[in-house]
Amino acid sequence: MANMSRRALMGGVAALGGLGLAGTARAQGARVVNLYTARHYDTDEAIYTNFTRATGIRINRVEADADKLMERMRAEGANSPADIFVAVDAGRLWRAHAAGLLQPVRSAVLEAAIPANFREPEGHWFGLSKRIRVVAYDKARVAPADLATYASLADPKWKGKILVRSSTHVYNQSLVGAMIAHSGEAATEAWAKGLVGNLARPPRGGDTDQLRGIAAGEGELAIVNHYYYANLSVSTKPEDQAVVAKVGLAFPEQAAGRPGTHANIAGAGLARHSPNRADAVRFLEYLASSEAQSVFAEGNNEFPIVQGARLSPALRQFGEFRTDTIDAAVFGRNNEAALKLTDRVGWR
Ligand code: FE
Repeated sequence: MANMSRRALMGGVAALGGLGLAGTARAQGARVVNLYTARHYDTDEAIYTNFTRATGIRINRVEADADKLMERMRAEGANSPADIFVAVDAGRLWRAHAAGLLQPVRSAVLEAAIPANFREPEGHWFGLSKRIRVVAYDKARVAPADLATYASLADPKWKGKILVRSSTHVYNQSLVGAMIAHSGEAATEAWAKGLVGNLARPPRGGDTDQLRGIAAGEGELAIVNHYYYANLSVSTKPEDQAVVAKVGLAFPEQAAGRPGTHANIAGAGLARHSPNRADAVRFLEYLASSEAQSVFAEGNNEFPIVQGARLSPALRQFGEFRTDTIDAAVFGRNNEAALKLTDRVGWR
C-alpha cells in the first residue's frame, strides 16, 4: 500500500518537476534514488551517469531552492519519495534536521572520508564540498597584510570602502554565527557595527556584484565566497578577466592561534522516509569518493571536502590555507542570534 501510494506520488513528482522517469522506472522494477536538490550544476550530470554506470541505480532529480524542497518533504510526509536532500549551506542542512526531515546514517566510509566538523555527529547530514568566505581587495590600493582577520574590516580606515551583500543572505548569517561562537555576541556586534559604518553603499546584489564593484572603483574590499572569483577567473569574457586582473583574494585568520578562514559547505542527508535507503546510502558514499568529489567540487569551483581529491587549476591558484574547524552545525544553531544582531546594527 505504501509502495503503491509512493509510486503514484512519484508519477506526480515527475510531472510536477518535469524531471525524471521514476514512475516508469519503479514500475519496471529498476533501482532508483530520488534526489531533492538545491544544486543546479550541469557537471553534476556526470556524477549521476557514472554512478548509474557503476551500480545500475538511476538518479532522479527534483531541483528547487532548499526551503521549497523542505516544504515539499514536509507536505509529502511518510509518503515522500525523497531519498536524499541536498543543500548548499550548513544552515539549511541544520534546519532540515531540526525539522525532522532527515534520518541518521552510520557509514564507516562517510565517517572516514569527511572531517568530523563538517558532518552531523549522528549522521543526519554530511558536508560534500567547502565554500570559503574570503575578503576580496583592490590590488592597486590595498595590502593583503591589512586583512589578516575578519575583525580588521571594522577598522575605521576602511570607511566608505567595503562592499557586501545583504545580511539576509545565509552566507553572511553563517559567517556571523561562526564569529559569535568564536568571540561572543558583544564583540561580534561591535564588529558588525564597525563593518556597517565602513560600507561603500547599502548592501545589494550577490557576491559577484561585489567583485565587479571593486573593479568599477565603487569600493576597495568585499566579503565574498571564493568560487565567485574562481568562476570569473576561468571565464573567457574580457569583462570578467578585467575584474580578476584588478581584484585579489585574502584568506583571513591564518596566523598561529587564529581559527582559520570561515568555510561553509554544500552537503546532503538521508530523507526521513527514504523509500530506497540502501541505494541512497550507497549514493552518499559515492559522493564522498575521490572520483565524485573532484567533479562535485569542480562544477562550481568549490573545494572538495575529502583530503587528496584533485583540485582544478582555478582552485590551485589560491595555494595552501587553513579553514576554520568549528562545528558547522553552529551556523544553524546561531542563525537566529546572527539575524537579530545584524538587524540591530542596521546591516540590511
Ligand atoms: Fe553561492
